[in-house]
Amino acid sequence: MANFRTHLIVAALGGAITAGLGWHAGFWSWPEMASITGLTSLGGILPDIDADQSRSIRLIFTLFAVLAVIASVIILQPLLSPSYLVATGGGVYVAVRYVASAVFKRFTIHRGIWHSLLAGLLGSFAITALSYRGFDQPAVQAWYQGAALLLGVLIHLLLDECYSIDLVGSRLKRSFGTAFKLFDYKTPATAVMMIVVMASLMPWLPPWQALFTVAHQAKTLWP
Ligand SMILES: [Zn+2]
Repeated sequence: MANFRTHLIVAALGGAITAGLGWHAGFWSWPEMASITGLTSLGGILPDIDADQSRSIRLIFTLFAVLAVIASVIILQPLLSPSYLVATGGGVYVAVRYVASAVFKRFTIHRGIWHSLLAGLLGSFAITALSYRGFDQPAVQAWYQGAALLLGVLIHLLLDECYSIDLVGSRLKRSFGTAFKLFDYKTPATAVMMIVVMASLMPWLPPWQALFTVAHQAKTLWP
């Protein structure tokens, strides 16, 4: 399995290249390149999130905390005075960065449920819904952001798989085929739970029509 640094660097590179290609093709503007690159990088470290003590978990929950602060300020701005907004923002940060991450660590004993395609898809849906509803992004852009996260997850799983090929002796290590999995086969119940959460996200997602536009546009990137 590749380490944290390798995952982060390769995913960030993949994200930057995709962001650049999309910008060149006119799919998004400069500021959106940053979010595409950032989300691909996030996807690149997401599968290792439940390895307790991992750097992924700290980085991801710091990121989530910052996002939650931004979203709560946007939503609460018309309702609260600036001093209350600052206090609420601080509270949200602590709640997500420390409380939610502690709860997450406590309940994810099974390593590996996030190390799957299904988990990547769930994360991708969540990002799409958040960017469409929470950050008021246009439907097509929201799908792109979800897709960027999924791309990062795919890069992570592929990279782990590559690391299990012994290139010199061209033998397959024992771990080959264990990284790239649909869901965590040892705990099918978590897969069912993920599907339920995904289904409950459906009403929050942007129109599927926009996803077809995204798929069509993405296809033109590869001639
Ligand atoms: Zn991994």
